[in-house]
Parts: sequence; C-alpha cells; structure tokens
Amino acid sequence: MTEIEQGPITLDVALAGATSCLECRFWDHKKDLEGFCRRSAPAPAGRENEITRWRQTRSEDWCGDGEIAVDPLPRIPCGACRFWFRPEHGIDPLQHAGRFSDWWQHAGLCRRHSPQADAELGGRGYWRTTHDDDHCGEATGK
Ligand code: SF4
Repeated sequence: MTEIEQGPITLDVALAGATSCLECRFWDHKKDLEGFCRRSAPAPAGRENEITRWRQTRSEDWCGDGEIAVDPLPRIPCGACRFWFRPEHGIDPLQHAGRFSDWWQHAGLCRRHSPQADAELGGRGYWRTTHDDDHCGEATGK
C-alpha cells in the first residue's frame, strides 16, 4: 500500500484515488499548471441568478474526492442532464454579471443539490445558473 505524507495527515492512496489534480478525472486543464475542478455540481446560493464558476486548482493540488483518470469522464453537458432546468426562454436577469445576453439565453438552473440550512431566518435558496454546454462530475443523463 502506498502512503503519502501531507502535513499532519497520512493518506492511503489506494482509498484516495488521485494523488494530484493533474491525474484526476474531474480536473479540467486550463493552461500551464492551472485547471478547474469539476468534481461537484454547484451548491445553491442565497441570491437569484448567481453564475457558477468552477474553482481553479493547481496541478499538484489534491483532495479526498479525486479519482484517478483511468477512464475519461463521460461528458454529459448540463443541457442533457436530468438536474438541469431551463425556463422556456432562458433567463433574463437584471444584472448580467459580465455575461452577454446570448449566454443567458442558453442558461438554466442546476438543481442537483438542495439548499443548505444556515443561521439566516427566512433565508431563501436559489439554484445557480450554468450554461447548457457546462459539465460536472455529478451529471446524470435524462
Ligand atoms: S451537469 Fe447536471 S449536475 Fe452538473 S452542473 Fe450541469 S446541471 Fe448540474
């Protein structure tokens, strides 16, 4: 069994899967040593029409959710995912958050996860927006 040392934690690689983002099937390489972690669908937000932006990580980073890229990740786009809901005419928000109208016409809501409880009384949960060509590691076909 292989073990790696990471600060106070000793991790069993056989259980952890990928030992770096570089070898992880959910890592979406961007440029040089940077990429996006697409492991998880976006968590709902506390405001309406929040855009999903997958977090960047470095190639040498790692986490306990990584999986070795033996097989490429089946790429199911949001537009073909059962958790995605697009209003009939897309979304027409007051604030475009730096995206063009065309992006919003192809936008929908990722309903993969329920809103999380917190300390705010009467707080509402809103599903985050993604583009129909986005994808993540929690997608399921319709
Ligand atoms: S692929 Fe599905 S689960 Fe993943 S972000 Fe898109 S709608 Fe959400």
